[in-house]
Amino acid sequence: LAPVLQVENLHAGFGQAGRAQMAIEGVTFQVRKGRVFGLVGESGCGKSTTCRSIIRLFGGSPFVIEQGQILFDGMDLAAMDDRQLTQVRGRKISMIFQDPMTALNPTMRVGDQVGEIVRRNHTGLSSAQVREKVVGLLREVGITSAERRFHAWPHELSGGLRQRVLIAMALSCAPELLIADEPTTALDVTIQAQVLRLLHELRERVGMSVLLVTHDLGVVAQHCDDMAVMYAGKIVESGSVADIFANPRHPYTRALLNALPANVDPHHKLEPIAGEPPAAGHFPAGCRFHPRCKFAIERCHIESPESENVSSAHACACHRKEESLW
Ligand code: SF4
Ligand code: MG
Repeated sequence: LAPVLQVENLHAGFGQAGRAQMAIEGVTFQVRKGRVFGLVGESGCGKSTTCRSIIRLFGGSPFVIEQGQILFDGMDLAAMDDRQLTQVRGRKISMIFQDPMTALNPTMRVGDQVGEIVRRNHTGLSSAQVREKVVGLLREVGITSAERRFHAWPHELSGGLRQRVLIAMALSCAPELLIADEPTTALDVTIQAQVLRLLHELRERVGMSVLLVTHDLGVVAQHCDDMAVMYAGKIVESGSVADIFANPRHPYTRALLNALPANVDPHHKLEPIAGEPPAAGHFPAGCRFHPRCKFAIERCHIESPESENVSSAHACACHRKEESLW
């Protein structure tokens, strides 16, 4: 399957050009057409920065792409200016976030907000046509009594319904790629599952590709085709979900899997990963995971491991990736 998005060796961070602090370094991955790609890692590993850098959505913070390419639809988004990016943002690529309340305007009825986006994406529609389209979109994302919800205020809806409204807005342009940054983290478990099922269904029904950010490997196992694990601004392991779950090669991936309750056999102790991931500006030398890695050797303190293939579609950045450590 052809990639819809190809991120190549991306180095980016915050600050003034020339002396920006790199938050992500050498990030490379691709999202295939019609597939769900999961980007996982603990919080603060650079997942959100990676996503936002694709459409450069940083709410005004000075953000610098120092190196790399973001290939989408025959264009390099990394080389575009803000005006050019507006043609892509919310048209070909849509994004939804963790907190659906802050993303909605509290002073505007739900139907009018979705309608505003519909108008922007489809010029020349009459009010009746816009309304019809809005109701259709609300239905498409599984909102029952869509006509009634059309007149609701955001605060009258549950968190799950608000996230559905945002997905409806994101879909109004029929995006080729939907970026979902922890879309269900703020929701309770049952609603989480419903929203994720909806994303899954939509990618089958409308053929869109999804870049799904999550800290939950269980979500990846259930909903993603391909995945990458991020740690301290770098991708440490990537490949198909099946390959990585069957044969994790990076100690960090292995540790995340060990911390996953369902994955642990009853005789095995659940092992959370000790310590905290380092923040940008405090990345250790050598392998950035070495202070927390129980397999670290001398070389790991000094030399940063390159990402290399362990099989045709599975890559890992660890000096000991070929050894049987577990
Ligand atoms: Fe651990 Fe060394 Fe591999 Fe880093 S390179 S993950 S420290 S074994
Ligand atoms: Mg985040």
